[in-house]
Amino acid sequence: MALKLSEELGLKILNLDNLEAVDEAVIHFPSGRREVFPLPGKGLFAAVVPRADYDLALIDLARELLVDVRLGHKFSSVNFDGERTFLDIEGLEEVETSFVVAADGAWSPVRRSLNLGEDQSRGEWLAFRQYISGVETDRNNLHVWFEKDLLPGYAWSFPLPDGKANVGFGVLKSKHSSASEIAQLARDLLNRDSISETLGENIKLEGRQTAWPIPARISSQRLTSGPVIFVGDAAAS
Ligand SMILES: Cc1cc2nc3c(=O)[nH]c(=O)nc-3n(C[C@H](O)[C@H](O)[C@H](O)COP(=O)(O)OP(=O)(O)OC[C@H]3O[C@@H](n4cnc5c(N)ncnc54)[C@H](O)[C@@H]3O)c2cc1C
Repeated sequence: MALKLSEELGLKILNLDNLEAVDEAVIHFPSGRREVFPLPGKGLFAAVVPRADYDLALIDLARELLVDVRLGHKFSSVNFDGERTFLDIEGLEEVETSFVVAADGAWSPVRRSLNLGEDQSRGEWLAFRQYISGVETDRNNLHVWFEKDLLPGYAWSFPLPDGKANVGFGVLKSKHSSASEIAQLARDLLNRDSISETLGENIKLEGRQTAWPIPARISSQRLTSGPVIFVGDAAAS
């Protein structure tokens, strides 16, 4: 979690539902060696929260700050009439605006609506996440595995309360020959000896494994177009 940024926005980190504070990281090296690195003792340096709880807390915070948040309305297109800018949003009247902040992810429909960078792939990296339960308390640390076939990417297990964890991995797409090779890595993730021996034999899958592209080309990406500003993954940052 981006603790500092969240706090600067006014989020009360310790009040988040299902938050697990973390005070050490267990790093597993390609050689099999493992080292525990304590985080500084004073203050909160790492915390894990399920993505849905984090997103909901941000929405609540925005509403507390009197932002008019409308959920479930899909952006369709951006149109210009001289100096004026209009957005087509499903379920709303046409919205006239001075600026558009496109924070709509790696597949940015706003970017595509403007015909910018359509031919580029969505992400240089690919990441997978699976929530699990049944991790014994003394095993449920923040683990990072640097395994030879994933480098320069890595696998992780981030602890959550009640024996749950977020387990995943990210890889650089160009290091792998095909999408099916990466899909196979994803299917086998929890069967890796290093991971299964660490997390124990009682783990259960919670929900399905999800995958996302992670763009990393902000320096070559168009970041504005007239009144439109791209941020976050839409800016390939
Ligand atoms: C498995 C995984 C692990 C990660 N781990 C980390 C980590 O440990 N640390 C870190 O810093 N980053 C991590 N990342 C990256 C991080 O999640 C992303 O960089 C971040 O979520 C990008 O935020 P965003 O708001 O730009 O885009 P997103 O989070 O993708 O949000 C885009 C939003 O736009 C909405 N949207 C899309 N299309 C439309 C439309 N037509 N109309 C209206 N709304 C629309 C979507 O519903 C979504 O809410 C990870 C990513 C993955 C996949």
